[in-house]
Amino acid sequence: MFLAHMPAGYLASRFLLSQYRLEPSKTKWLLLLGLLGSVFPDMDMYYFYLMDNRQHGHHSYWTHIPFYWITVLGLSYMIAAIVRSRYLVAAATVFVGCFLLHLSLDTFAGGGIKWLYPFENSYINIFFIPSQANRYWV
Ligand SMILES: [Zn+2]
Repeated sequence: MFLAHMPAGYLASRFLLSQYRLEPSKTKWLLLLGLLGSVFPDMDMYYFYLMDNRQHGHHSYWTHIPFYWITVLGLSYMIAAIVRSRYLVAAATVFVGCFLLHLSLDTFAGGGIKWLYPFENSYINIFFIPSQANRYWV
């Protein structure tokens, strides 16, 4: 699942970057930023296994909560408007766009995402797929 997000992030980055008319030399760094954004939410797996001792589902961590990333996107747009940078707008759009694509894909086949947080604390998912580890314990 971890690497499956990267091809989707690549396609989304290419699409989003095609909407901006930027120099090709800057576009490759933004494409890399989009790829990073597409896999960054699952970096919480290190915390899940190494620090949290699998006590909580990793979709409950701040990295998998859309509210925080939509806030980051809004703040980035405000900063970009102040400094008048189209490059910052493109960077924020690609990074957070791929981030939100990751969360959207996790909604379909993952453990669910708290799309309505902070108003509602429940997970929204389309298909429920039990984790491999739980099969041996139930
Ligand atoms: Zn994820």
